[in-house]
Amino acid sequence: MSGNSISQPFDVVIIGGGAIGCFAAYYLRSRPAPPRVAVIERDPAYRLASTPRASGGVRRLFAAPENIALSNFSIPVFQDFASLMEVDGERPDIGFRKNGYLFIVPPQAVATLERNFERQRRLGVNVALLTPAEVKARFPSMRVDDLGAAVHSPDDGWLDPHSTLMAVRRKAVALGAEFVADEVTALHAAGGLVRSVELASGAQLRTGAVVNAAGAWAAQICAMVGMEVPIAPLRRYEHYFECEEPIEPLPYVKDTNRLAFRPEGKGYSGGVPTLREPRGFNFEMDHGYFENIVWPALAHRFPQFEKTRCKSTLPGLYDQNDFDGNPIIGPWSGGLANFHLAAGFSGHGLMHAPGSGLAISEYILDGRCSSLDLDRLGWQRIVAGQPYPEQGII
Ligand SMILES: Cc1cc2nc3c(=O)[nH]c(=O)nc-3n(C[C@H](O)[C@H](O)[C@H](O)COP(=O)(O)OP(=O)(O)OC[C@H]3O[C@@H](n4cnc5c(N)ncnc54)[C@H](O)[C@@H]3O)c2cc1C
Repeated sequence: MSGNSISQPFDVVIIGGGAIGCFAAYYLRSRPAPPRVAVIERDPAYRLASTPRASGGVRRLFAAPENIALSNFSIPVFQDFASLMEVDGERPDIGFRKNGYLFIVPPQAVATLERNFERQRRLGVNVALLTPAEVKARFPSMRVDDLGAAVHSPDDGWLDPHSTLMAVRRKAVALGAEFVADEVTALHAAGGLVRSVELASGAQLRTGAVVNAAGAWAAQICAMVGMEVPIAPLRRYEHYFECEEPIEPLPYVKDTNRLAFRPEGKGYSGGVPTLREPRGFNFEMDHGYFENIVWPALAHRFPQFEKTRCKSTLPGLYDQNDFDGNPIIGPWSGGLANFHLAAGFSGHGLMHAPGSGLAISEYILDGRCSSLDLDRLGWQRIVAGQPYPEQGII
C-alpha cells in the first residue's frame, strides 16, 4: 500500500514493522471493536531489520521480574503459534524447539546465579540448579572444571526468527492492520499530543496515538519529537558453524564470557556479543572475529570445537539501551502523552515481542497495562536517573 492512497485518520500508527511493531498491531487488532492501525515499514523485505537476524533464543532466565513476566507470557505464545497465527487454514511452522537453556557461570558468579534461580522458581519457571558435576553428567562433552554452577531451564528453547516475523505480520494483516511501505520522516505535535505522521512519499497520516517500534533506529524517531533516548545501534554477529566431532544434543548454552550458541541443522548458530563496540549503523564484517574471539571460546568449552568451521556470518544490530540494557515500554510520561515507546530491548526483543505488544495495546486502549506489571520498564526510570539493569544475566 502506498502512503497517498490511505484513507484517514488512524487510531494508532506504529513506526517499524519488525517483531515489536507486528505484535503490537496483532494485539491491538485482536480486541473487540479494534482500533484502526497502520504499520509503517520502509523496508518490507527486512534487509537490515534486527528481527530476521536474531539468533532466535527464547528463555525465562532473567533476574528482573518484569523480564521473567514478559518471557512467561511470550514463550507460550510461541508454542501455540500454529493455532494463534493461523490464516485461511494455513498454520505457520516457526521451528520452535523446546530444547532448553543452560546458563553456566564461574565460581565468583554463583551467588548471583542462585539468587536469580530462587526468583525464577518463585515466579513459576521450571529451573534446576546444577553443580559442575551434574552439568558434566548431562552434557559430557562440556568442560566444567572452571565452572561454579549452572541453571538449566528445560522449557525454554529457540525458534526461527524470520518465519515468526512473517507469520505475525500476516496475521496482523488478516486482522485488519494496514501495512504501509514508506518511511516516517517527521512527526507533528500540537497541544501535548502527536497529531500526524509524515511519510517520505509526502503523505500525512492523522492519528490518535503513535508507537515507536523502530528498533535500532528508535532514537531517530524520538529525535523527531525532541525526545532524547539512550538507545543506540550495536553491531553483533551471528555465526553458523559446523563441527567434525560429534557432540551430544545441547540446549542453548550461555556462558558468562558471553559465548552463546545453540544447535542449528547440521551445526550450530551463535556468537560472542560484546558491548565494547562503537555504536552506529555498522553492517561491516570483521572476518577475524570468529577466528579470534568465538572459536577460542567454543574450543575452551567443548574440545570438539577445535575442529570447527565457520560457514557463514551475518551482522545485525541490537537496539541497545545504554542506560541499563532493558527496554523502555509505554507512553512518554511527561512528554507527548500519546507517543509510546517499545524499544531498547538490547538483545531480548524477539523473545519479549508478544508481551511487549500486549502491553502497548493495553497502554493505548486502556490507559494502563493490567496483564503484566511493567511499570519499572517505563520512561520514568530514565527521567529519574534510576537504571534498572539485569543482575548477572547477559
Ligand atoms: C545477531 C543478533 C542476535 C539476536 N539474538 C536474539 C535472541 O536470541 N533472542 C531475542 O529475543 N532477541 C535477539 N536479538 C535481538 C532482537 O533481534 C531485537 O531485539 C528485535 O528483533 C527488535 O525488534 P524490533 O521490531 O524492535 O526491530 P527491527 O526488527 O529492527 O524492526 C524495526 C523496523 O523499523 C523500521 N524503521 C526504522 N526506522 C523507520 C522509519 N523512519 N520509517 C519506517 N520504518 C522504519 C526498520 O526498517 C525495521 O524493519 C538479536 C539481535 C541480533 C542482531
